[in-house]
Amino acid sequence: MTKKEKKARAAFAVAALKERYPDALCALEYGGDPWRLLVMGRLSAQCTDARVNVVCKDLFAAYPDVYAMAGAEYADVEKLVFSCGVYKVKAANIIDFSRMIVENFGGKVPDNMDDLLTLPGVGRKIANLILGDIYKKPAIVADTHCIRISNRWGLCDSTDPKKVEFALKELVPDEEQSDFCHRIVLFGRDICPARAPKCEECPFKEFKCKVK
Ligand code: SF4
Repeated sequence: MTKKEKKARAAFAVAALKERYPDALCALEYGGDPWRLLVMGRLSAQCTDARVNVVCKDLFAAYPDVYAMAGAEYADVEKLVFSCGVYKVKAANIIDFSRMIVENFGGKVPDNMDDLLTLPGVGRKIANLILGDIYKKPAIVADTHCIRISNRWGLCDSTDPKKVEFALKELVPDEEQSDFCHRIVLFGRDICPARAPKCEECPFKEFKCKVK
């Protein structure tokens, strides 16, 4: 497929997903607070968003902001995030990055990729989530749904998240990128999961997807 054809396909996908999921809400219930989104983004690795939403009710009741978390004990936070899996590493990352945000960034979650990537446990996926959702910057969140579906559509040919991110950055208009990624997650859950995609009822069946 040529770049022009890929761009046309991406434009069709942006419009069709917007019509199907007009709200494009983030599944993590962070209440507009950048630090809470950072914490929830970290906890959501290898865990469902629904589980993270439940766990964070108690976590944020105990530690409501970055300053409270910066003073937390590892063992106390480990108990609260236990059910998210990989709990020791996640608890340590959350406390450590909260301390760094207080010490190095005046208590404010950074608004650029380079600074976000200095935070322990924060990779490009979480950084892009923050840049897109909080700071309204162009941002592709290359999660498992985004990677699977953009490959099926022929927009990219890689399972490397960074390659998928950069491929989609070229194809999806800047102002659409963040919402597009939220919508593709909803679409992946509803219609195009990893196993048994519902191609017969799919608005993209003309794409003749590559389903492995
Ligand atoms: S046609 Fe099938 S594989 Fe392609 S996006 Fe739709 S459900 Fe997924």
